[in-house]
Amino acid sequence: MSGQLTSRSHDMAAAAALSELEALLGAGGLKSGAAIDPASVRDWSGEAGGTPLAHVAPRSTAELSAVMRICAAHGLPVVPQGGLSGLAGGAVPSDGCVLVSLSKMAEIEEIDLSSGQMTVQAGVPLQTVQERAAAAGMFFALDLGARGSCQIGGAIATNAGGNRVLRYGMMRDLVLGLEVVLMDGTVLPMMNRMPKNNAAMDLKPLFIGSEGTMGIVTRAVLKLHPGVTGANAALLALPDFDAALSLLQMAQRALSSRVSAFELMWNDYYAAAVEHGGLRAPVPAEHPVYVLVEMLGADPEADRPAFEAMLEAAFEEGLILDAVIAQNEREVESFWALRDAISELLVHYKPKISFDVSVPLARLGACVETMRAALEAAFPGLVQLYFGHAGDSNLHLVTGHMDRYGAEEAAVEEIVYGIVRDFGGSVSAEHGIGLHKKRWLSYSRSPGELALLRAMKAVLDPKGLLNPGKVI
Ligand SMILES: Cc1cc2nc3c(=O)[nH]c(=O)nc-3n(C[C@H](O)[C@H](O)[C@H](O)COP(=O)(O)OP(=O)(O)OC[C@H]3O[C@@H](n4cnc5c(N)ncnc54)[C@H](O)[C@@H]3O)c2cc1C
Repeated sequence: MSGQLTSRSHDMAAAAALSELEALLGAGGLKSGAAIDPASVRDWSGEAGGTPLAHVAPRSTAELSAVMRICAAHGLPVVPQGGLSGLAGGAVPSDGCVLVSLSKMAEIEEIDLSSGQMTVQAGVPLQTVQERAAAAGMFFALDLGARGSCQIGGAIATNAGGNRVLRYGMMRDLVLGLEVVLMDGTVLPMMNRMPKNNAAMDLKPLFIGSEGTMGIVTRAVLKLHPGVTGANAALLALPDFDAALSLLQMAQRALSSRVSAFELMWNDYYAAAVEHGGLRAPVPAEHPVYVLVEMLGADPEADRPAFEAMLEAAFEEGLILDAVIAQNEREVESFWALRDAISELLVHYKPKISFDVSVPLARLGACVETMRAALEAAFPGLVQLYFGHAGDSNLHLVTGHMDRYGAEEAAVEEIVYGIVRDFGGSVSAEHGIGLHKKRWLSYSRSPGELALLRAMKAVLDPKGLLNPGKVI
């Protein structure tokens, strides 16, 4: 009887909330039931969530704040959504939630050339930010494969990394100011524009990388960089991981820390990318390790002699076995195509697991060999493809065709994450925890840290309504 009452009162609260939301947003501003686009219940990882009650797309911070007040008053869970390119299941709905899409808040408000800043709404796609910065003669450094679909708000919420972290840092390093709406509708206008601001502790880091569990990002002040027009890049074959480590140090010394990307591909990944990505191999797929090294600059032609001299010196020291230097932008892109072939590989090797971890750089090579041996011992023949943003200690691993080798997901994850823990690494380098990695979070964070994270969440969202069940 009491169960029926609870369920009836829940239905009544949901109906009341829906009619208040409709009054606020208009009939076109809210979708419920079968009218909700099925594409909005999954993210790119394919993770299916629960059944949402409604889908709303507010047009302003004030409107979003009002949506949050209604949801909080009726005890409705809220799940923020950006471009749904997330790989951790962080944006998928929980049962009975209101999905909040930022897609209608997609304005670039200002580009300030004197201080190298862009003020944007959260729903602007990353690629639009990059293009508008370039059109203004500036450079926005964040770049990743999903640039066309992911939004700035999503990139902030996941503290996205990508291809140029080595030189410019992660999203956290590119955000000066932030506007956030809390679960109770409070708007925090932290739109700072100064590199120096020590007026008490900075609250922005609490929201960057919180995967929509602490607040909803609505606007941001982004850092732009001047003087980037093109790249020098080379694809290199190396004898082993230690040679890659030495090469990275040598390149950073010779090029005054201007290396913008240092992407490592072990032979298994490189050979698979060439075969299944349908790509031409710039150097034969017979060497142990491959590196894509890139240096961005204001005048790539002028930088070229220093770039080539560094490669020659590395060649003479025996660090490089074979090399191709890009002669034009098209060739730079063809090198990146090898690194970006991961999307095709993920389809080819289904069922698969795609790992994103980080390990202290000096131990990365040993970690890969330990994983390779442990997985081979447990599941002989299992496909293992190793690659990553190695300059950032970031390792990606795909274990593929799992069914052919009797490789259970949980058993493979236990092996990989256990080794990451033993090497002092992190179970998530850049994709976040979402739903996928909740089980493994304690391998990288202590009980004390987890308790503090939960306590901070409880202060901002005491009823646990914002993106429930995710991260912690
Ligand atoms: C092909 C491909 C390549 C990728 N490469 C990289 C890479 O190199 N590096 C990398 O870091 N990631 C990468 N990703 C992952 C993904 O693109 C990033 O995590 C991206 O930042 C997610 O942005 P989104 O707008 O799609 O967010 P969504 O997927 O919609 O959401 C992701 C999380 O952020 C929350 N969220 C979204 N918007 C907001 C907001 N405005 N306020 C608060 N919370 C919000 C959601 O609730 C969810 O928890 C890649 C993905 C793909 C498909």
